[in-house]
Amino acid sequence: MSFPVHRPRRRRRTEPLRGLVRETRLTSSGLVYPMFAVPGTGVRREITSMPGIYQQSVDKLVEECREVAELGIPAVLLFGLPEHKDEVASEASSPDGAVQRAIQAIRKAKLKLIVITDVCLCEYTSHGHCGMIHDGEVLNDPSLTALADAALSHARAGADIVAPSDMMDGRVGAIRKRLDENGFQDLAILSYAAKYSSAFYGPFREAAQSTPQFGDRRSYQMDPANAREAFIEVGEDLAEGADIIMVKPALAYLDVIRRVRERFDVPVAAYNVSGEYAMVKAAATNGWIEEKRAVLEVITGIQRAGASIILTYHAKDIARWLKNGE
Ligand SMILES: [Zn+2]
Repeated sequence: MSFPVHRPRRRRRTEPLRGLVRETRLTSSGLVYPMFAVPGTGVRREITSMPGIYQQSVDKLVEECREVAELGIPAVLLFGLPEHKDEVASEASSPDGAVQRAIQAIRKAKLKLIVITDVCLCEYTSHGHCGMIHDGEVLNDPSLTALADAALSHARAGADIVAPSDMMDGRVGAIRKRLDENGFQDLAILSYAAKYSSAFYGPFREAAQSTPQFGDRRSYQMDPANAREAFIEVGEDLAEGADIIMVKPALAYLDVIRRVRERFDVPVAAYNVSGEYAMVKAAATNGWIEEKRAVLEVITGIQRAGASIILTYHAKDIARWLKNGE
């Protein structure tokens, strides 16, 4: 059938009609808001390259969590910065670390929030790599113990989901084993399964102060040119016990999100990363694009590609717009 019998424009005549036939509907229920916990009290420092996003001490972070919960955003993702960095990321598993204290504070405030914690070593190591170093090489197996230690410390503090982002081989299995041995069989793992070595992490490194002091992360994060390889990474993480898998970044990897969605029947998350956020913010600030429309289009695109969970720094704005029916 074709024109003039068929006229697709009939379905686009009015906003109610467009709403009726809309294939992808945004809600706040799949949003996750990433946050940065730092030591101290009364600290709230805006990250220059990420307007509206802050490094915060636990007291301030909990205040913002209250706002996040009131907006109907179901989950936060916590990153932490230590007092001191060292070669072996000692503070990553400290019960007094900023993340561990933030989890406890959110629990104590009885906020209706799923607390997801990023499990990695790069914020805590003096060299800024996600694993242990020997002779300039990032070691795989010795890093697993430290990662499992960190995950267990988050579990003990009261996290709902731990999210390893390091890309060491075998980390999900090591974490699952450690959690199970300590009575945390019900705590879920969201693995950064297909995490690419990306230029779009730039602003995050300012936020997490985690720039590698030598070399780069290409020996453990994935090559941006590879999509099929994502099946291997996702498959392994699922075999090791991941409950939810993630593709990161989102925008340059929509095909990976789609392919992973079609291949695996588990919830797929996508991380709309700092550089993607910064680009939209910078262009909007200059009046080059309309922020709200651009953000909603980006998030709709990520969901349409197949992600049902979206981690985004725009989460509060999106929830506000959806709440006000805008
Ligand atoms: Zn890392």
